[in-house]
Amino acid sequence: MNKSILKLTVVAALGISGVVVAQTPKTIAYAASSLNDLNQQKEDIENKQDNVQSKLTDKNDKISDVKDQQSSVKEEIQRLNTAISSTQVKIIEKKEQVSTTKEEIKKLEEQIAEVKKRIEKRNELLKERARSYQETGGAVSYIDVLMGAQSFSDFIDRMGAVATIVEADQDILKEQEADKKLLEQSQAELKAKLSSLEQMLSDLEGMKSSLNSQKKEKDNLMAKLEKKEDDIHAEMLSLEEEEALLADQKVAMEKAIGLEKSRLAEAARQAEIARKAELERQRKAQAAAAAKANNSGETNSPSNTSANTESSSEPAVSTPAVSSGSFTKPANGYISSGLGQRWGTFHAGVDIAATGPVPIVAAADGVVIRSYTSSSYGEVVFISHSIDGQIYTTVYAHMSSGSRLVGAGQVVHKGQQIGTMGNTGDSQGQHLHFELHRGEWNAAKSNAINPIGIVPM
Ligand SMILES: [Zn+2]
Repeated sequence: MNKSILKLTVVAALGISGVVVAQTPKTIAYAASSLNDLNQQKEDIENKQDNVQSKLTDKNDKISDVKDQQSSVKEEIQRLNTAISSTQVKIIEKKEQVSTTKEEIKKLEEQIAEVKKRIEKRNELLKERARSYQETGGAVSYIDVLMGAQSFSDFIDRMGAVATIVEADQDILKEQEADKKLLEQSQAELKAKLSSLEQMLSDLEGMKSSLNSQKKEKDNLMAKLEKKEDDIHAEMLSLEEEEALLADQKVAMEKAIGLEKSRLAEAARQAEIARKAELERQRKAQAAAAAKANNSGETNSPSNTSANTESSSEPAVSTPAVSSGSFTKPANGYISSGLGQRWGTFHAGVDIAATGPVPIVAAADGVVIRSYTSSSYGEVVFISHSIDGQIYTTVYAHMSSGSRLVGAGQVVHKGQQIGTMGNTGDSQGQHLHFELHRGEWNAAKSNAINPIGIVPM
């Protein structure tokens, strides 16, 4: 028996959770396994932190990727803009050339028309002359000129003059025809030039529209890249929030681990005290047995022993046995009042009454959320529990003055003593007023449920 207690002390002091058999304050086993749980939870948080960190690094890489893409697209857009504006300048130039050429063509057309008119006029004149020459009027006048000759040489002279006049008319006509041909040729050349200019213009306009559509594409790509960057930034923001939350959780977990370690150390110290007391009791028992064997008439020792046994087996003052489920009995005693309507008001809990110094224990593993003196509840402790994902709140009221053993933020374990039964606050006679809420406690006590059937009583 000594050996097992000693073993327990060592195990507890080292903070190793293990199978500790019998004779052990059960809280130590709980403490050790819950320390493991807490360390496991802390490790989970650290893993999550690593995960979030690597995600953040990944997002940062993606952002710089997107930025690179953006700057190359920006360069292309600038290049396209330059090309578009130079194309635009060329288009304006070509348009000017086209309109100049068109004007020139128009002028030539006017000139050609004029020359044609002159040619026609002269043609008319020549035809008229030829007619008068052939018919009578004109011919007579030429003949008159010839016939009026005074001598043969005079006749020859006159003949030459007539021929010169006719020839001159013919020359002018020829020159005019040549002019007309030249003009027509220039006009044809200008028309060719115009059509080549118009071709160039349409090519330039085609180029401009292709550049514009390329630019539109790049603008769309740029908008997409900017949207992508925004999205990554938003994702990073939520990752940073998660990171901050995880850091908070880690701090809370470390605090809980620290509390748990000091609890373990305290439990080990208590176990050591218990071990020494047991050794002392055994030593006394052996001394008493020896004295009895010596056949002495002393009767002190047996009565001492029986007194010890009596006090340790007195049910009213002992800590209740810890049940195996999620909940355990919060105090030994009898149920003096159940949950329900009582004297016109709702009694939100169960009253457990007993006499003597009765320990009150946490009904389940949890965290103390309040520990204070209330005018109605008296000395009271509130504990929050998370059981299979459901939050429960337990309330332990009317504890004896100065008996509260836990403070807010403290981690407590099923069966761990948190105070002693009393009669403080709005209470008649010593009892524990115990409430169980599914969810958070509220002033209306709307979450209160009957603990009977859930918490062993
Ligand atoms: Zn009550």
